[in-house]
Amino acid sequence: MIKYKTSEEVEVIRQNCLLVGDTIAEVAKLIKPGVTTLQLDTAAEQFIRSKGGIPSFKNYRGFPFASCISVNDAVVHGFPTNNVLKEGDVISVDIGVFKNGYHGDSAYTFAIGNISDEVKQLMKTTKESLYKGIEKAVAGNRVGDIAFAVQEYTERKHRYGVVRELVGHGVGQDLHEDPQVPNYGKRGSGPKLNEGAVIAIEPMINMGKKNVVNDKDGWTVRTRDGKPSAHYEHTVCVKKDKADILSSFTSTEAAEKANENLCSDYY
Ligand code: MG
Ligand code: MG
Repeated sequence: MIKYKTSEEVEVIRQNCLLVGDTIAEVAKLIKPGVTTLQLDTAAEQFIRSKGGIPSFKNYRGFPFASCISVNDAVVHGFPTNNVLKEGDVISVDIGVFKNGYHGDSAYTFAIGNISDEVKQLMKTTKESLYKGIEKAVAGNRVGDIAFAVQEYTERKHRYGVVRELVGHGVGQDLHEDPQVPNYGKRGSGPKLNEGAVIAIEPMINMGKKNVVNDKDGWTVRTRDGKPSAHYEHTVCVKKDKADILSSFTSTEAAEKANENLCSDYY
């Protein structure tokens, strides 16, 4: 059952989502060859706690870290590790913040240094597909309209693989609420969305095939064919004419552009 939010609840979620964006921006400032994803996770947790928030993911169903950092063939739920990042790595950073009784959730994908046009295209298309989905997050539409828009753009138009096993979700007092928001599906299918539904839309798009496997760490999800994957996520509130995007990439994109180690000419 979808728990519709009051405008007061939406504003709390917005503040949390903006803190997530600022945290991802802090992480973006630190990404460079030689840094470990565990160092990035520690910085993220410190920043969230310094702002009075609690990392939503920490201890969620036993997940031991504040962030999911998924490198190259890792799609999502990546375990921060002591492995050092290097030129050419594609890094998805997914973070949630819990504060004042509600969660906020957002994710962004970075790349270090000179990457191939093929990888740039994957990142650009995945980011664009997020906004294709958001366009459909209006009152009266169904979840399948969002799902179809993402799949149409990524899989049918660009021939990428859309991950089936993992989906977007409602956001509120729980990190994962109803409805599930897949990145594939039929127009006009699934739960109907009314004003006040707060959902995370998060395309997880593979350069190769859609199939994924679970890493032996029990969490990290990887592409089966070993090709890279990209992931962008916004939390949005469904409205009459146009969704209200509660999270923001503004500080993240500014940090991405300012960090000379990061590729920022892909979109
Ligand atoms: Mg997320
Ligand atoms: Mg999410």
